[in-house]
Amino acid sequence: MRIPRFYFPDPLAPGARVALPQDAAHHAVRVLRLGENDLVRLFNGDGCEYRARIVRLDKQSPVVLIESSAPLSCESPLNVLLVQGISSGERMDYTLQKSVELGVGAIQPIQAERSVVKLPGERMQKRMQHWRSVLASACEQSGRNVVPEVRPVSGLMDWLGLQASGAGSQAPGGELRIHLAPEAALSLRDLEKPTGPVVLAAGPEGGFSDNEHAALRQCGFVGVKLGPRILRTETAALAALAALQILWGDY
Ligand code: SAM
Repeated sequence: MRIPRFYFPDPLAPGARVALPQDAAHHAVRVLRLGENDLVRLFNGDGCEYRARIVRLDKQSPVVLIESSAPLSCESPLNVLLVQGISSGERMDYTLQKSVELGVGAIQPIQAERSVVKLPGERMQKRMQHWRSVLASACEQSGRNVVPEVRPVSGLMDWLGLQASGAGSQAPGGELRIHLAPEAALSLRDLEKPTGPVVLAAGPEGGFSDNEHAALRQCGFVGVKLGPRILRTETAALAALAALQILWGDY
């Protein structure tokens, strides 16, 4: 049987004994029926994978002994920041989960003019926590040891205001800025391989407004279309990520 992997949010070291966090404990004991002496693998985002053995079942919460650690990376050489217009609950979750599988480097959720979901104060904090747990679970499943960062929600104009200005599509640091737009003339194949990271902007269900498109262009984002068909917001970002990995990443 494959040794189950769990995200552990704190520092780890061989020889340490730690109790698995609640979600991992539930999955290990209730779903996988693991018991004393069974092996698990842990990661905390420091680039290593830790092999551990269950040494005690405390009120159903397993305590594990870290036996060894090894650096392990399956990160893509292509660093992609996904700037995603917030879509409704499950769609956004799907986008985040699959983007981790497709090797995204970080995610910037954008409260776009046409985002259906508006997230005031406390709800936003809860949603951010939820998104972080979606990303961690996707890393558990996909074998990644680095959990992509989910950045604080921002309005598009505010976020663009913080970006260094870029001429054309090559911004400072060799960054390639792309925004997905069904009416664009260029396709990904028309772009030159970037020498730095890629920033990929995808609109929410209703797309970006004309103002937002104009602001993106002004900030050096080049419009790119993904074929002649309109894709749902969650399909668009994921199709683009897969294409980017084929063109310049590790596919
Ligand atoms: N009527 C909306 C529009 O014109 O933008 C459609 C929005 S689409 C459902 C949601 C987002 O997916 C768009 O904002 C765009 O970023 C992306 N998208 C969908 N289909 C696309 C395509 N064929 N090419 C490029 N981007 C696309």
